[in-house]
Amino acid sequence: MTSNNNRSYIIIGAGVFGVSTAYHLIQKYPNASVTLIDRDAYDAESRVAASWDWNKVVRADYDDKIYCKLALEAQDIFKTDPLWQPHFHQTGVYWTCRSDYAQNVINHHKELGRNDDIIALPVSEARKLYGGLFDNADYTGVKEVLINKASGWAAAGDVLRAVTKKCLELGVRYVTGEVATLQFDGRGSCTGVKTKDGRVLSASKVIVSTGAFTPTLLEWSAADSGNAGIRAGERILAAGITTGMAKLKKEDHERFKNMPVGFQGYTPEQGKPFIGSLPPTKDGELKWWGSKIFTNTREVLPGRYLSAPPPSQDYNQWKVPGPLKQDIIEARNLWYGPASADWEMTKHRICWDAFTTSSDFIISPHSASKGLYVATCGSFHGFKFFPVLGKYIVQMLDGELESELVEKWAWDRQRPDSSLNVEYPNSEMRHLLGPTARL
Ligand SMILES: Cc1cc2nc3c(=O)[nH]c(=O)nc-3n(C[C@H](O)[C@H](O)[C@H](O)COP(=O)(O)OP(=O)(O)OC[C@H]3O[C@@H](n4cnc5c(N)ncnc54)[C@H](O)[C@@H]3O)c2cc1C
Repeated sequence: MTSNNNRSYIIIGAGVFGVSTAYHLIQKYPNASVTLIDRDAYDAESRVAASWDWNKVVRADYDDKIYCKLALEAQDIFKTDPLWQPHFHQTGVYWTCRSDYAQNVINHHKELGRNDDIIALPVSEARKLYGGLFDNADYTGVKEVLINKASGWAAAGDVLRAVTKKCLELGVRYVTGEVATLQFDGRGSCTGVKTKDGRVLSASKVIVSTGAFTPTLLEWSAADSGNAGIRAGERILAAGITTGMAKLKKEDHERFKNMPVGFQGYTPEQGKPFIGSLPPTKDGELKWWGSKIFTNTREVLPGRYLSAPPPSQDYNQWKVPGPLKQDIIEARNLWYGPASADWEMTKHRICWDAFTTSSDFIISPHSASKGLYVATCGSFHGFKFFPVLGKYIVQMLDGELESELVEKWAWDRQRPDSSLNVEYPNSEMRHLLGPTARL
């Protein structure tokens, strides 16, 4: 048995999966060596992490019962724990449903014994709420509107920084550096990482939480070690989504400041992912994300092609071409129509995440190497679980994860076809861009 003092962990990636793991590990094993390594400093002005952002939705409105339960657990921490609570804003959500989504969510909450203020209203009643703020929204095909006053949003970058800082106070080491390959011993067990600038860090357990970069890192490590089984293969797909923000005029800010998070929900037949509209940040900016979820297939090694963020240090995340900015205008119009035409669009970013066909995370030992673990694949919905992800990842590391979750989050499992998943990547970036707009 490993004594508490001999435990050593390297976590690659300081997004919500990696930081939550560090936070739970160091509390369970205060004398263990826990190292977080990330290409960006945790308090950098700008980071590539999907988890780093102005704001993310924190909701428990899931029609999948497992994620519904997990999201409620996480949301309770966001609401009560002094580390998380200052960053959470309980604005509620307003969700236009074109399927039975609302009723499924309400049933789950009832079955889970929750008395949250959650209702489904006909469109005619819902659009009068919040001073008619959503009166100009697109209600084509909407069956009813789900209103959940218990949900809201979190200031994502702020809470990520605060929890990482707490980890450091508790004894976690933070290394800024880009991992070039995983390191293996003669028997194929993972022993650590090697950085681009040649540093080697060793540990008995290595956890890969590198988000959209995961397939590339595993590809490089497979080539370096000669073990093709390290590759992600069909399990993980890296893809980007555009976000954009508009600065509200002072008089508008007053009207919008207490608005809920808005979602436009679609069915697989309608072929669109859900589109979100987030309430103003402290700087008075509204945020949307677009409907295009795009892969970026490129050659990451001679003759090896997979989807990956652009190869620059910052994933070219701030260089958003015109057609993707247009995607945000369309998302904005779905909510506010022509009345928003003169709003000043202030920021655009491409956010890269790792997807599975079922939108399930991967939290699992890697089957091709002892000592190697994968904990990522937020699949466009991972942020809200930040407070509890690490609890389950530590259970996985300790072999204590309950069987239902072992199966759901396994590295090796049968995965469904992506065609019924509206939140799965739906296009290739270069096909969306005109020849002059390509990155
Ligand atoms: C546009 C958009 C909106 C979203 N909105 C929401 C929302 O409202 N609510 C919600 O719950 N979820 C949301 N999500 C999903 C959520 O943000 C992600 O699922 C989650 O943040 C992923 O966390 P992660 O830790 O796996 O990856 P990341 O946060 O991407 O972190 C990975 C880290 O690994 C580091 N890294 C990568 N490669 C290396 C390397 N080789 N060496 C060193 N470091 C490396 C990166 O620098 C990065 O910091 C959204 C996602 C997107 C794209």
